[in-house]
Amino acid sequence: MHELSIAHSILSIAERSFPAEATGFIHAVNIQVGELSSIDTEALLFAFSAIRSGTVLERAVLQIETIPGEARCSDCGTVYHLDSFGKACPHCQGYLVNILQGKELKVLSLSVEEEEPATHA
Ligand SMILES: [Zn+2]
Repeated sequence: MHELSIAHSILSIAERSFPAEATGFIHAVNIQVGELSSIDTEALLFAFSAIRSGTVLERAVLQIETIPGEARCSDCGTVYHLDSFGKACPHCQGYLVNILQGKELKVLSLSVEEEEPATHA
């Protein structure tokens, strides 16, 4: 399953960027997923929650920002919204396009929260 290996990559990125001596915990992982990346975000969320227990991401949620697909027609230069591959240019019906954006999969940041110091009466 494609999404499971992506979830593992996110975990290893988080492990590398989160210092072992840190006092807080990661409460969110912010990622960008392009509309044309063929990633099923539901499946990714599921995979993420399946692998996080016992890791630095145990208390983290995955926050996914979707990047819309955008293409420029190679024939007439029209820039249009491409939500899936194989859609013709709305202006000239051409199929030769340059993908401008929408294929990305990027871990943007980790949100870290400081652990509340235990209070004793
Ligand atoms: Zn065109």
